[in-house]
Amino acid sequence: MIKKALVFIMDGLGDRPIQEFYNKTPLEYANTPNFDKLCKESQCGLMYTLGRGKRPGSDTAHLSIFGYPIDEYYTGRGPIEAAGVGIKLEEGDVAFRGNFGTVDDEWKVIDRRAGRIKDVTIFANALDGIEIDGIKFIVKPGSAYRAGVVMRGKGLSSNVSNADSHNAGDSVREVVALDDTKEANFTAQVLNKFMKKSYDILNNLDENKNREANGELKDNFLLLRGAGVYPKLPKFTEKWGFEKACCIAGGGLYKGVGAFLGMDLINVPGANAQVDTNIEGKFNAAVEALKKYDFVFLHIKPTDSLAEDGNAQGKKEFIEKIDKYVSILNKLDDETLIVVTADHSTACELKAHSADAVPILFHAKGIRNDNITEFGERSCSKGSLGIIEGKDVMPNILNIMGKLPLIGA
Ligand code: ZN
Repeated sequence: MIKKALVFIMDGLGDRPIQEFYNKTPLEYANTPNFDKLCKESQCGLMYTLGRGKRPGSDTAHLSIFGYPIDEYYTGRGPIEAAGVGIKLEEGDVAFRGNFGTVDDEWKVIDRRAGRIKDVTIFANALDGIEIDGIKFIVKPGSAYRAGVVMRGKGLSSNVSNADSHNAGDSVREVVALDDTKEANFTAQVLNKFMKKSYDILNNLDENKNREANGELKDNFLLLRGAGVYPKLPKFTEKWGFEKACCIAGGGLYKGVGAFLGMDLINVPGANAQVDTNIEGKFNAAVEALKKYDFVFLHIKPTDSLAEDGNAQGKKEFIEKIDKYVSILNKLDDETLIVVTADHSTACELKAHSADAVPILFHAKGIRNDNITEFGERSCSKGSLGIIEGKDVMPNILNIMGKLPLIGA
């Protein structure tokens, strides 16, 4: 009987044929004996995370895989990032992702990341708790120059423009309402006042005087974008009938997905979403977590970042590096289902996410395995699952666990 599930997502794993790889994809070309063994014992298929012809973002793709329809639950990246930095969101909060950056006296952006500042705790603390016209601002530091920001109070809307132009050299934009409701106009007004106030506070911080004296760029502006309202949503465990769920991820967005859905976050030293991330530590943490949790979400990021750099060789080598540690999963007992997949394809050729389907495998004792001997895009296309969508993943997991409700009598 299967009682526990591990869902292992390698970001942007799917790809397209690479000429130098004899027209194999990085996953097909990589030497992956451990993935291949797992695949042989699995039921396999392909997945269009959001459906055919839809190019998924990482946030929307993950929500779909975990069974949260994006039309209903996705309002922007802000709430997910804010959850990821530890802000407990409340229904009606408007959340943003933020960058601490550098502007000149006229608010022209000099650097969107304040010289890639490594820790913004002091700066976030200086702004945390500010109140303007009855609206409270919650500001928490994220990794490096990033922050999560929440506006809490009555009469807010997320339908407002971004202040962040995304380009150094441009000026900070005034926030405007994107519809003619009272709420959007009020939110824009409060945000413009917040920008003025936060600039005055940050620009005069002692820490910035020290930075200037050291020849570093001032960290004097919080650039906000990705506004989204926090929706009422059921906890993952309650929605799918698990006892306890946790998330093991290095990247802020993925921790955010876990926290957003009410999963516990497990921190692994050295798990940093970079190519030198602690893969071994993450697999060990997953095995350990499955002693206490009946659902574990494990995420590894750099397969995506390398493809976004167009680095097919790097992606192939990174996949081989992951494969070395996949054998750690052999320690799992017979009661554990392992799902291996990706949130979307990231094509090295495009240096971007693509709508190409991704491979997916379900490995469990007693499963009707397909005997496919290589884990890859085209090999998995021959699997008996056929072509599924992200929304099919959780029902399929419940079926394997014998937990699906009966339709009819
Ligand atoms: Zn992704």
